[in-house]
Amino acid sequence: MTKKLVLAVIDALKPEMLDRAVEHGRAPALARLIERGIYVRDCVSTFPSVTPVAAATIATGVGPAEHHIPSMNWFHRGEGRYVEYGSSFEASRTFGIVRSLQDTVYNMNLAHLSRTPKTVFEHLQDGGIRTACTTYLIYRGRTRHTAAEGGIYPAIVRAAGGQFRHAVWGPDELFYADLFASRRTDCRSTLGMPGQRDQHTACVTAHLVENDLVDFVLVSLPDNDTYSHRRGQFAQVTSIASADRALERIMHAAGGPDEFLREHAVIVMSDHSQTAVSDRVNLREALSSWNVLMPDEDPATAEIAVCPSQRSAQVYVLDPERRDTLMRRLLRDLKGVQGLDAIAYRRGDEAAVWTPHGELRFAPDGGLEDARGERRGSGRRCRAPAPATSSSPRMAGSSSSTGAGSPTWAGEATARFCGVIRSAR
Ligand SMILES: [Zn+2]
Repeated sequence: MTKKLVLAVIDALKPEMLDRAVEHGRAPALARLIERGIYVRDCVSTFPSVTPVAAATIATGVGPAEHHIPSMNWFHRGEGRYVEYGSSFEASRTFGIVRSLQDTVYNMNLAHLSRTPKTVFEHLQDGGIRTACTTYLIYRGRTRHTAAEGGIYPAIVRAAGGQFRHAVWGPDELFYADLFASRRTDCRSTLGMPGQRDQHTACVTAHLVENDLVDFVLVSLPDNDTYSHRRGQFAQVTSIASADRALERIMHAAGGPDEFLREHAVIVMSDHSQTAVSDRVNLREALSSWNVLMPDEDPATAEIAVCPSQRSAQVYVLDPERRDTLMRRLLRDLKGVQGLDAIAYRRGDEAAVWTPHGELRFAPDGGLEDARGERRGSGRRCRAPAPATSSSPRMAGSSSSTGAGSPTWAGEATARFCGVIRSAR
């Protein structure tokens, strides 16, 4: 029997915390999936390991070089401005809240995301498979959705001076906070506020499952990330428990976990993990001798654009004619900054990664292999997770993905991420 596929993304799920939640009985739905499926703990996130980049990779199966979502905050050379996807409230305020929301809701999908790799929704819709997405950063698909008319939404539109009225292209069913809802449900997103989003996702997905409306659904569970930012990564057990309740609710809509798993294949995955921040690097201070582009300034008046993005940052040299000279100076200055583990940059046709211990240079087809046997640029794709082995007592069952999803896409996408659980065939 062909199963439907549920892809659940628990934002920033840390494998150690998932283990703890399961041990303490706080995640019964996830425990059941681990028991009946395959648990892959040692996956690798994108670089940079931040939500927009990882979300684009999860939705397309390719890395940032191909999907073109480079970071949380980046400099758009074409438009000569910073793009900020909402790394924090302060960041959004600095770059303009309305603009930041426009970049996140509309531009990320309709302008910044490359048109070349198809999203999972586009792939499946082209194959006549019914798709759905809950509030996820990447939702691009083949169906036009107009902005919601009912509920609290019209009030927001008025408050934002008429912004956010535009239609978008998404999967067959799209539920995106209060902005888009492809059908009427009793579910409330409360403006997509942190802490409320998992329950909205659970509510709309339960509705879809109960009424047999889709074959593939991306279930976005972002509250774990927000909770970790607020309480620290080791507090995740509480937010994993709430993501688990969302999954239970979805399973319940099909008549309980057993009935649900008879009809649905499930992939639960993380997009990246978190690290405890013990010290911060203030790039603005470190680069105080530079003329750094400020938001809304003319790029012609500055030397560099600086884009902090949590675990990493990007620095752009703005004057192409002085690039080489400025790059040399920039590298010299950055190498003197305490707390930078690695500096990556282009050096002719090669990529270079500098660390205090030495520099690694590599190029496409250069023959270098990483610890996982990957050769970037050689045309080889990421390998799918290995099947269960005797050294992983929790793993059981088959390694193939099942259901309505494309196995190649699922294998490629899941191979890159931390903490993946897949239900058995
Ligand atoms: Zn994330």
